[in-house]
Amino acid sequence: MREKVTKTEAEWREQLSPKQYQVIRKKGTERPFTGEYNDSKTAGTYVCAGCGAELFSSDHKFDSGTGWPSYYQPIGDDAVAIDEDHGFGMARTEALCATCDGHLGHVFPDGPAPTGLRYCINSLSLKLIERS
Ligand code: FE
Repeated sequence: MREKVTKTEAEWREQLSPKQYQVIRKKGTERPFTGEYNDSKTAGTYVCAGCGAELFSSDHKFDSGTGWPSYYQPIGDDAVAIDEDHGFGMARTEALCATCDGHLGHVFPDGPAPTGLRYCINSLSLKLIERS
């Protein structure tokens, strides 16, 4: 079992920038084509901006054209948690950091092979650790 990271809302507010807090803790969405990692092709590991857990690899990133960094799979089987999100009257599948429950983005069934999935993720939820 993965050890959970839990913090109070005050601690999250102190640690995260206001924009990060809005996305990660309040399930907000950054505007498309504005995120730091949308166009990034730098090799490395994307970790959670909240807790530092490894989430995605640049090896699984693809250009979806949607304006958000997109991956066809997480870095490991238990890295990303999935929740059905019915906010705003839409049934969407929410992707969360499995370690700190931070909001990452959503999963759509229109990704490329081999999974057919598109993990559509906010740059604000991620931090890229470049491969050396
Ligand atoms: Fe996290």
